[in-house]
Amino acid sequence: MAGPGQIQIRGAVLREGGDAARIESLTLAAPRAGEVRVRILGSGVCHSDLHVRDGDWPRPVPVVMGHEGAGVIEAVGPGVTDRHVGQPVALAWLIPCGVCRACRAGRPWACPDSPSFRHRMLDGATVVRDADGRDVLSYCGIATMAEATVVPVEAAIPIPDGVDPAVAALIGCCVTTGVGAVLKTAEVQEGATVAVVGLGGVGLSCVMGAVLAGASRIVAIDRVAAKLEVAKALGATDGLVAGGDPAPTIEALRDLTDGGPDYVFEATGRVETAELAIESLPLGGTAVLVGMTPVSARASFAVYPFVDGSRRILGSNYGFADPAVDLPRYAQLHLDGRLPVERLIDRRIGLDDLEAGFDRLRAGDGLRQVVTS
Ligand SMILES: [Zn+2]
Ligand SMILES: [Zn+2]
Repeated sequence: MAGPGQIQIRGAVLREGGDAARIESLTLAAPRAGEVRVRILGSGVCHSDLHVRDGDWPRPVPVVMGHEGAGVIEAVGPGVTDRHVGQPVALAWLIPCGVCRACRAGRPWACPDSPSFRHRMLDGATVVRDADGRDVLSYCGIATMAEATVVPVEAAIPIPDGVDPAVAALIGCCVTTGVGAVLKTAEVQEGATVAVVGLGGVGLSCVMGAVLAGASRIVAIDRVAAKLEVAKALGATDGLVAGGDPAPTIEALRDLTDGGPDYVFEATGRVETAELAIESLPLGGTAVLVGMTPVSARASFAVYPFVDGSRRILGSNYGFADPAVDLPRYAQLHLDGRLPVERLIDRRIGLDDLEAGFDRLRAGDGLRQVVTS
C-alpha cells in the first residue's frame, strides 16, 4: 500500500549475481530532506551492469540495477532549494564524501568512502520496497534501471536544457569515463599520438576525447570491423581489426604511430588487451587502463624496458570526474557539437528487453543500448 508521497514503479531487480534481472513492481519512497525524485528518461546498459548482472563483481542484493541514467526532477524533499521540479539532470554514480584525504586533496574520483558504494541514501536508508514490503538497495545510490528513482541531491547534477536524455544518461557514465580519461587523467597534449583499444561506449568516448585534445593520430582498435567505422566517423584517423594474437596488432600499431603511440587507452577490461597496451608503448609512452576487469584479474609486463624507457601505466576511474563540474561541461560540449554522443547509441530498448540487451552486450554486438521506456 502506498503511503504519502510514495509511488509505484517498475524496476530491474537483481536478486542474485548470475541470475536474470527481473522487472518487478516496486514502491518508491517520497524524497526526504536532501533527496530528490527523478523520472528516469534514459538508462544506458553499461558493461559494469553486465559485470554485476553476471556476478563477476560481488554486490549486495537485492538491488535495483543501473548507474548510467538521466531524467527530470519530479519531486524535491523538504528544504531542497537548489533543485527544482522540471529540471533536467544527469545522475552521478559517485558522490564524493567530501571529507576524506582524497576529497580534501581535490581528487573526488579517488574517494574510498563514497556513500555511493553502499547502495543506499546518505544516512543508510533504502528507498525501494518490493511487493512483499522488503527493502531493496539502489545500485550506487541511483538505481537508474527503473521508471523513477529517489537519490541524494548531490547525485542529481543539473545539465543545460535541450540535451536528449539518452545522451545525458551516457554523460553520467561512459562519456565522462572516456573523455575524462583523455583530458583529465592522461592530459593528452595537442599533436600527441593516441590508440584506443576496445570501441564500446567508453572506448568511443576516448576517441571523442582524443579529438577534443587535438591528437594528431588516433588509432581505433577492436575485434569488430564495423566499430572501426563508427570510430572513424567520430574522428579516428586509422582503424585496426585485432585478432587473437596480439603481435600483429602491436606491429601494425607501431607502424602507424612512428614506433608506438604516446598514449594507449585500454577500454575493454581484458587482461590480454591491458598487456597489449603496455607492450605497444614507445619510450616515454603512457598506457591508461580504463576498462574494468573481473575483480581477481592480474596482468604482467616486462619490467626492465618499462623502467628503462620511462613508460607509465595510469589507472583511471570515472575519468577523474568532479561530477558537479564535469557532467554539465560535457553536456555543453555536446550542445556545441563537439561531443557527438548520439552516435554511440544504436538501440533504444524497454525495461522488458533488458536481458536481451545484456545478451547483446556479452556477445560484443552493437554500440550503446539505452533503456528509454
Ligand atoms: Zn558505467
Ligand atoms: Zn571522500
